[in-house]
Amino acid sequence: MTSHVPRLTSHEIHFSFELFPPRTPAGAEKLPAIVAQLAAVQPAFFSVTYGAGGSDQQGTYETVMRVIDDTGIDAAPHLTCVGSTRANIAALLQKYRDSGIRRIVALRGDLPATAVSSEAPGEFRYANELVSFIRETHGQHFTLEVAAYPEMHPQAPNPDADFDNFRRKVAAGADGAVTQYFFAADAYFDFMERCSRAGIAIPVVPGIMPITNFAQLTRFSAACGADIPRWIRLRLEQYQDDKQALLDFGLDVVTRLSSTLLDNGAPGLHFYTLNQAEPTLRLWKN
Ligand code: FAD
Repeated sequence: MTSHVPRLTSHEIHFSFELFPPRTPAGAEKLPAIVAQLAAVQPAFFSVTYGAGGSDQQGTYETVMRVIDDTGIDAAPHLTCVGSTRANIAALLQKYRDSGIRRIVALRGDLPATAVSSEAPGEFRYANELVSFIRETHGQHFTLEVAAYPEMHPQAPNPDADFDNFRRKVAAGADGAVTQYFFAADAYFDFMERCSRAGIAIPVVPGIMPITNFAQLTRFSAACGADIPRWIRLRLEQYQDDKQALLDFGLDVVTRLSSTLLDNGAPGLHFYTLNQAEPTLRLWKN
C-alpha cells in the first residue's frame, strides 16, 4: 500500500526531537550536551514530555526554557489535561505565553492506575476538550500538536471510534499531529488514507522510536499498544545479549521504516530520543 499523503519536496521535510525532563542530577548534567548535539542538525522544534514517568510540570517548563535559551530553537511543552482543572490549565497556559512559548503538544495523558472508570477525572475528559479550551482562551497564539494512533489507542473500542476522536481533535483546532510509534509503515499509510477520505489535511508526522533496548521497548510497546512485528521481536530476542548486534539490527529496521515513510510522503519525522543523542542522530544521518 502506498500513500495518498500530499508529497512535499525534501527541503520542506522537518524533523523534531522529543526529550523528557531529567529525573536525576546526573541526567540533568548530561542533557545540555545531548541537546547541543541534537540542535546541530537544526530540528524544527524540540518537545518535552510532561507527567510521563513521573516528571513534574516544573521540570517540563525548565527543560523547555533551557532548550530555547541554549539553542534558540523552538521547544514545545507537552501538556496533559487528565486530572487537571480549567483554572490550573489556564494558569499554566498564561505562564507559557508570558515566557514566549508558541507551541504546545496537547494531550489527555494517562489515567492514574487507580482509576476505575474509563472517564478521566478532572475537568477535561479528552484531549479535544483541551484543544478547544486553548483555542477559546488563546486563539491562534499557540501552534497545537495532538497525538495520533495509526495502530489505535489501546483504550479505544475500535479503530473507527478512535479515528472519530482524532477528527474531533482536528476540528477543535489542532495544527498538526505526531503519531505514536509503530514499526509497520502500512499502519501509517492506512491512517493517512483515512485522513484523506475524511478531508483532514493537517500534517501527521510519524513518531519514530529508535531501537536500543529490547526490554524497554517491550515494556513501552505493551503500555502504549504499539505492535512489534513477530520477525522484529524474534531478532531482538536473539540479540538480547549482544548489544552491538541489537543496535545494528535496530538501526537497519528503523532506517528502512523512516525512508519508506519519507519516500511516500510523510511530512517529517518526530524522534523519541529518550534523552540520547546518538541513536537518533545515526538514524537522522542515514
Ligand atoms: P485522547 O485523544 O483524549 O484519547 C484518549 C482515548 O479516549 C482514546 O482511546 C480515544 O479514542 C478516546 N476518546 C477520545 N474522545 C472520546 C469521547 N468523546 N468518547 C469516548 N472516547 C473518547 N503522556 C504523558 O503522560 N505525557 C506526555 O508528555 C506524553 N506525550 C505523548 C506524545 C505523543 C506524540 C503521543 C502519541 C503520546 C504521548 N503521551 C504522553 C501518551 C498519551 O498521554 C496517552 O496515549 C493517553 O492515553 C492518550 O492521550 P491523547 O491525548 O491521545 O488522548
